Amino acid sequence: MENEVYKLPELPYQYNALAPHISEKQLTIHHQKHHQAYVNGANALAQALAAARQNNAGYDAKAVAKELSFQLSGHILHSLFWQNLRPNPKSEKNDPGNKLLQMINRQFKSFDRFRQEFSLLASSAEGSGWAALAIDSRTKKLILLQIEKHNVNLIPEAKILLVLDVFEHAYYLDYQNDRAKFIAAFWHLVDWGEANRRLNAALL
Ligand code: MN
Repeated sequence: MENEVYKLPELPYQYNALAPHISEKQLTIHHQKHHQAYVNGANALAQALAAARQNNAGYDAKAVAKELSFQLSGHILHSLFWQNLRPNPKSEKNDPGNKLLQMINRQFKSFDRFRQEFSLLASSAEGSGWAALAIDSRTKKLILLQIEKHNVNLIPEAKILLVLDVFEHAYYLDYQNDRAKFIAAFWHLVDWGEANRRLNAALL
């Protein structure tokens, strides 16, 4: 599309790379159809805004602000999600290693306890919901988020380290209504190296 502000990022792996945890078909549709729809939505709003300003025309500011927040946050969250997954985890023991693991142990008492809390948020998120581990860049403390509709329950200046999409479109082809099974599969796919890179960037 010409003049597009936002672009669908390519996945950092092949569509079949996350199988059997996420199938090729599920990942392809999620990325090419659902994520693309948020990109298109954000671009359409950006273009409508530019046109209104160009023509000195009015627009429904409240509705546009709300819709842009939804579409653009959806685009950003999906981009973060793809990047914090990886194929072929090194071992059964897939943990954050070094700095992030120390912070998790200090704050959540144990890695298992952290995973339980994160999984609980993921399993109880409503609608187009997400669970996320973030760091409050002011206090440097870890914080868990349960994001609804891509943009509700966000905390300003909390930088996302790890995020999981639990909207039904993320798992329904593979797991139907068994979200718990999808969440369990997610832990096999987490790219903790990426989470650590985000942590280091947030601590700069
Ligand atoms: Mn999604």
